[in-house]
This record gives sequence, C-alpha cells and structure tokens, in this order.
Amino acid sequence: MTTTHTEKNEQTEAGAYIDRVYQQVVERNPGEDEFHQAVREIFDALEPVFEAHPMYRKENILERMVEPERMITFRVPWVDDEGSVHISRGFRVQFNSALGPYKGGTRFHPSVNAGTIKFLGFEQILKNALTEQPIGGGKGGSDFDPKGKSDAEIMRFCQSFINELHRHIGPDTDIPAGDIGVGPKEIGYMFGEYKKLRGRFESGAFTGKAIEHGGILGRTEATGYGAVYFMKEMLKDYGQSFENQTVVVSGAGNVSIHAMEKAAELGAHVVACSDSRGFIYDKNGINIETVRDVKQRQGNSLSAYTAYHPDAEHHDNPSAIWQTACDIALPCATQNEISEEAAKTLTANNVKAVGEGANMPSTLQAIRTFQEAGVLFAPAKAVNAGGVAVSALEMAQNSSRLAWTFQEVDDKLQDIMKTIYQNSTQAAQSYDRSGDLASGANIAGFIKTADAMIKQGIV
Ligand code: GLU
Repeated sequence: MTTTHTEKNEQTEAGAYIDRVYQQVVERNPGEDEFHQAVREIFDALEPVFEAHPMYRKENILERMVEPERMITFRVPWVDDEGSVHISRGFRVQFNSALGPYKGGTRFHPSVNAGTIKFLGFEQILKNALTEQPIGGGKGGSDFDPKGKSDAEIMRFCQSFINELHRHIGPDTDIPAGDIGVGPKEIGYMFGEYKKLRGRFESGAFTGKAIEHGGILGRTEATGYGAVYFMKEMLKDYGQSFENQTVVVSGAGNVSIHAMEKAAELGAHVVACSDSRGFIYDKNGINIETVRDVKQRQGNSLSAYTAYHPDAEHHDNPSAIWQTACDIALPCATQNEISEEAAKTLTANNVKAVGEGANMPSTLQAIRTFQEAGVLFAPAKAVNAGGVAVSALEMAQNSSRLAWTFQEVDDKLQDIMKTIYQNSTQAAQSYDRSGDLASGANIAGFIKTADAMIKQGIV
C-alpha cells in the first residue's frame, strides 16, 4: 500500500509529496505497522487539499505533523501480591499541541507498544480538532494487563506509572484520561498519586474521574452515546433511523455498553456483542443490564450471559461476530477487528451502515470494501470523538469550579456530534469527496490543526 487514492489516475505533484512523506514514515518508524496504517488512512484523504493549497506543501506540514513533539518511554516497576517484582513499560506521546494542551487517553493492555501509542496519538490530533474544543493530541499507556489483577496490584501499578509520568503532565500541559483497561478506578489511583506528588489538588490534570473528585456527569456514557448520536445524524441525512434496525455492536466495555443502550433507546434491535473470548447472539435483543452485571459487576466472561438468557447463543471466536446479519454494525472493541473478509461478509449480508466506536477498528481494505459496496461508513475519529469532547467539558468544569447536570452535558454532546457530522460532510463536499465521511473527517481535522500550526511558526 504505497499509493494514494488517485492510483488509477496519473499521480499529481501533491500525491507524489504525500507518498514521499509516507515512505519516510515507514522508513523512520520501523515495525510500527499500526502507526503506518493510521498515517496512510489520513494521507489518503489529503491529496485534494494539497492540490488546492500548495502552501501546506511549502510549509512541509505533513513531515512536521507525523513527528511527535515528544515521546516518553519509561520503566514501570511494581510488586504483585506475592511479593514478586514486575517491570512494565510506560508510554506517553505528546503528539501535537497546536490547538491546546496534549489530551488523550491511557491504555493498559498487553498489546500496547510504541507503535500502538503513536497510532492512537496521531488519530487523536485530528479527532480532538474535530470536537472544536481547545485540545491538542496525546496518548499514553502500558503493556501492563489489569485483567485478573487485584485492586491493590492495580493501585501499586498506577502509582508507579504516575511516579514517572507526573513530571510530564498537568492541567495546562497534558491531560490523560481512560481508554481500554483504564476507567474511573485507575484514573482515581493515578490522580491520588499525582496529587500527593504535586501537593496540590489539580483536578483538571486528568479526565474521566469519578464524580466524587471532579468528574463530570455523562463522561462514562459519552463515547457510546456520542457514537449513536453521530450515526443518527448520518442516517437521518439518508432518510433512515435506528428504529427497527438490527444492530451488532462488538465489545462489552464502556463504549459498547453505552452504544447498545442508546441504540436500543432509539428503537434498534441490538442482537450481538462480544468480549475477548467470544460473542453472544440473542435473538430477543441483548439485555444490557445482564451484560453490565456479568462484565462489570462480576468480572466474568460474556459466556455467563447465557445462564440468564437461555435463548441466547455464545460462540467462542469474537471476530465471528461479523457473520451476524445486521443493518448497522458498530465496532466498539479494538483496532483492526474488521478485516477485509469480515467487511465482505457484512456487505454480503446487506449491512447498510458501519460506525466505528473503537479507534481504527477497520483495516484499510475493510474500509475500501464498505465504500465500494456503497455502505454508509462513519470513521472512528468522528464517531467516537464524544468521549474526548466531554473530557474537554470536564476540564472546563474543573477550571470554572462549577458543575453541569447530566442533561446539560448530554445536550452539549448531541450538539458537538451534530457539528462534527456537518463539518465532516462539508469538508468532503468542498474537496470533491462528497459522501466520503472518512475523507471529510480527516480533511476537516487536518485543516484546523495545520492552520494553527502554521500560525504558530516553525516550532
Ligand atoms: N480514550 C478516549 C479516546 O480515544 C478518550 C480520551 C480522553 O477522554 O481524553 O478518545
């Protein structure tokens, strides 16, 4: 995959520039496949922008944008309950601060490496730009696996993680939040350690906090609800809605549960969801309370769901969830969960719309398959931006020392998701990519960031 969108046509000067920078990214960041993929996906949208505005090339804006402002890698030693010492690896990428302090989640998962954090951080720049909130792009995490660990082990790990990271973050510098494996509990442990080291209660140094110490109502729901609000806008534009649509949502974490909840509230029939060990199909409609109970309260595998709903089926292979026929697919689990083959199965089963709740859940070939089949495709950086958007509201709330009601936050979230949809649609139209929301979101986020970078000089 080395050529841009126009591979059939003769390559333009802009296309040649984009390809050259992409090649450099591959050469300078060996082995970071997910980062290459995220860069390729964004670059594929930008050729018409570079053709229309040669200034971006003159400024060499792409080379500047793909190089993180700062990348921190550190040792995280911690002791388990038996007294054994473990060494995990910690990361934080402070990718781009053109629009505001670095902002982005923290992922604790054994698959995390420098390339994962860079792909997530790079996506985060444009995602955050789309929210129209004053936040730059960052991301962090560790290869620590919180699964099966006691609360005491998780606490010790989080304290050790912050023992190093504290010197690089702060309410006006870089504001971590949650992601896979990191929720309000982990944020609480990190915040507690940060507060102790700083000797100050800087509540705006983290978002996704529990309500008791500066969290915002509606942050937990925001990514999943926001994804459905975005899809609702898109469907409305095409004369459709969630009403009576069969929906499949992968994952069973925070994003997935709230996407299922909101889709069901809008009249959808949600029939399947998954975890890392398999997926469940419930022809009567997924009972979201049971999923919450099994996953969040009991900490069990989804297979336990069938004990409560005997009509439901559990299947061992999580990626086989995409064989379930549906009108709307919402991948809300993890990156590259929809392969080209899965995309072909979904389109053969007449899926009408795909909305990415997770970060980069579709491979480049899967996206192409959806687009060629005329499936409405909504890209992650637009669809799942509701989470970070409400994080920005949490920061505003912390600075003002005021608090909004759930309804106020939810109303703001709906407005933000509508604006992201409109801006992405318009950007696609303006650059000859009408109906291509993946390009539109990338173009809108890129232009906002690039213009701010240029105005701040070569820094
Ligand atoms: N991890 C989320 C994301 O991927 C949220 C980040 C945040 O709230 O800062 O956007």
